[in-house]
Amino acid sequence: MSGPVPGDGYDIARPPEPVPGCARCTDLGVRRAVARAEFDGSAETDMNVLLRRHQRAEHPSTVPTVLP
Ligand SMILES: [Zn+2]
Repeated sequence: MSGPVPGDGYDIARPPEPVPGCARCTDLGVRRAVARAEFDGSAETDMNVLLRRHQRAEHPSTVPTVLP
């Protein structure tokens, strides 16, 4: 197990989890799971970025604040 990387705003070790009951989160979560199953690393990363961006906008309380 490795801890968070100091000074890195993106915590790659802990990808965002879809928020239960949110259609957008579920959609992105499913697409990420498909990308992961197909070993499509770039698509998986894209979905993580979209999930983070969406959750920062729509679910700010669920996203750990890593920025100063
Ligand atoms: Zn959501």
